[in-house]
Amino acid sequence: MNTEILKRAVAEHGAPLYLYDAERIITKYQNFVNAFDVKHLGIHYACKALSNSGVLKLFKELGSGLDCVSINEIKLGLAAGFEPNKILFTPNNVSVAEYEEAITLGVRLNVDNLTFLEYIGINHPNVPVCIRINPHIMAGGNHNISVGHIDSKFGISIHQMPMTRRLVKKLNINVEGIHVHTGSDILDSGVFVRTADIIYDIVQDFDTVKFIDFGSGFKVKYHPTDLDTDIVKFGKLFSKSFNDFCKKMGKDYTLRFEPGKYMTSEAGYFLTKVNLIKHTTSCVFVGVDSGFNHLIRPMFYDSYHHIENISNPDGDKNIYNVVGYICESDTFATDRILNEVRKDDILSFHNAGAYCFTMASNYNSRVRPAEVLVNKGEIHLIRKRETMDDLTRNLVDVDVTGWTK
Ligand SMILES: *Cc1c(COP(=O)(O)O)cnc(C)c1O
Repeated sequence: MNTEILKRAVAEHGAPLYLYDAERIITKYQNFVNAFDVKHLGIHYACKALSNSGVLKLFKELGSGLDCVSINEIKLGLAAGFEPNKILFTPNNVSVAEYEEAITLGVRLNVDNLTFLEYIGINHPNVPVCIRINPHIMAGGNHNISVGHIDSKFGISIHQMPMTRRLVKKLNINVEGIHVHTGSDILDSGVFVRTADIIYDIVQDFDTVKFIDFGSGFKVKYHPTDLDTDIVKFGKLFSKSFNDFCKKMGKDYTLRFEPGKYMTSEAGYFLTKVNLIKHTTSCVFVGVDSGFNHLIRPMFYDSYHHIENISNPDGDKNIYNVVGYICESDTFATDRILNEVRKDDILSFHNAGAYCFTMASNYNSRVRPAEVLVNKGEIHLIRKRETMDDLTRNLVDVDVTGWTK
C-alpha cells in the first residue's frame, strides 16, 4: 500500500486508524478461486476475521458466501445482502434458542455435536444440516487456534461416527455437507491432504451429501521471511485428489473452503501515532496511542506484526520496544529495528486485516478506532471512531446514597 494514502487517511480520519485495501482483498479472492480446478467450488468467507459491513458487501460482490459463528454475524451478513442459503452457521456451544433463530432466518446449519444433531432430527426433520467433524489432527500456528486435535472442543469426533450414522439413519436427517476446520495459520498443506483422506471416508457413509467443506487455516506472511501457503500449488494438488474422489463416487460434490485470514490479513494496516519516546536504562520505548485494546494479537498469541515508520522512511535505523498506553504490559514489539522514531510519527502495523479490529475492546475505557476501506486511491470511511457516548450508552444509573452506612 502506497504510504501517501496511509498518511492521507490519518490526516483525514485521525489515528489510531484501521485501513483496508479493497484491491488486495479482491486479488486474494480471485487468486484463491483461480487456484482450483474443480467443477463446483464454493468460497464462504469466514467473517469473524473482519466483519465490517463494507467488507462483507465486497465479498458479496465477489460472489462469496459467508461462514458465521454467531447469530449476530448472521444478521450482519443478511444486512450486507447475502442470501440466507449462502450463509453457513458454524457455532460452538451456543444455546438451542440461537440455533432456532438461525433456522428461522433460513441460513444453513453446521452441527458440531450429537445433542443438537438429535434435536434437529426430532424437531426439524426437513432442515438439512452439515456435520462438523473433528479429525483428531494437530495443526495450527499456535495452541489457541489449533482446533482439530483430540482435546479440542470443536466438532464431532471421528470415533463417534457409528453413533452419528445411527442418528442420521433413525431420524432420516438430510446431511447436505461434511465439514472440517482444523485450525488457523497452518503452514503444512499436507495437513489438508491427510484430513481430506479421513473426510472422504466419512462422506461415503452419507449419500445425501452435496458439499465437502474443508474450512480454512491458510497461512499468510507476517514476518517478511515467513513462508505462506502456495495457493496455486495447493489448489492443483487438492483439486486432483478431490476430482479423483468425485470420480470414484460418480458424483460431483461441491468443494468448499472458508478462508478468513488468507483473504483479509495482508489487506489491513493499523496506523498509530507516537506519543512518547522514553529512554530507560535498558532500552528505548516507543509509546503509541493504542494498546491491546485495539490490536491484541501480539500479546494474546505472541504474534509478529511487521511495523514501519511511515513518517521517516529514510531515518537511521534504531532498536526499539514498541508499547501501548494500556495500564498493563502491552508490548507490540521487542527489539524491533525501525527508522528513527520521533514524537508524532505514524507507525503502520502490517497484517491488520484479520482478527484485529474484530478482537478490539474498550479496556481502560478507550474507544475503538475508525475503519476505512481504500479503493483505487479513494478513502471511504466505513466505521466512525467511537465516542464517550458509545462507552456510556448502556449504563443504567443507580442511586447508592446511604449504602455504606
Ligand atoms: C475461524 C474459522 C475459519 C477461518 O479460519 P482462517 O484461518 O482465518 O482462514 C473458517 N472456518 C471456521 C469454522 C472457523 O471457525
